[in-house]
Amino acid sequence: MAKTLVFDVDGVLADFCYGFSELAIRRFHQPLMAPYSSGGQPDWNWGEYPGIPIHVIDSMWAFIQESEIFWRDLLPLVPRGEIKDMKATCQPFDVIYMTARPGDTAKQQTEGWLVDYGFPAGRVIIQTDKPKGCLQLQEAGATVVGILDDRPGVVVDLYEDGWPVTIRDAQYNRVTTADVSAHRRRSLQEMDRVGLRVTSLAEFLGRIRQADADGELGS
Ligand SMILES: [Mg+2]
Repeated sequence: MAKTLVFDVDGVLADFCYGFSELAIRRFHQPLMAPYSSGGQPDWNWGEYPGIPIHVIDSMWAFIQESEIFWRDLLPLVPRGEIKDMKATCQPFDVIYMTARPGDTAKQQTEGWLVDYGFPAGRVIIQTDKPKGCLQLQEAGATVVGILDDRPGVVVDLYEDGWPVTIRDAQYNRVTTADVSAHRRRSLQEMDRVGLRVTSLAEFLGRIRQADADGELGS
């Protein structure tokens, strides 16, 4: 059974927020002061901040759906050194990139983008239901030993189903600000209590190396 690491892409490896806010300004003429990166997004729900009207958000998603370059053009959220680190750390593992990106060419764009920036080789899976995606990997013989994601609802779903998920910290996924139900908030709180939150990809990779060296990820 291949030990497998599952990485979310947007908000973990790629700076979706920068690309999205830049699109809002340049193409949809929204008066933002400046585009901002994933670290600067205060809330998961784009409709509420920075005040882009919902019909514009809808038009932007329609544009992205059709675009053959939007995903390909995003900037990495991690420095070059961390990508190298990721490549070295992931050597003994199978790597899966699991993303809910929409659009007919989202998968191909993502594959090309990962190659462009030198991320470790791995299969790209488009999946909105990530627990289901992990289950399918398991049924195909994989042993999922680590998952890194940033979306509050997704990390809670994975955690509650018993998957080894770690939260990539961001303002919008903290217990005090996450847009989740009271029940999910308790799970998020519990994840924090047991230390399932990292502030960088590098920190996650360090944990994986340590756990592997300690034999915690199986043989
Ligand atoms: Mg994400």
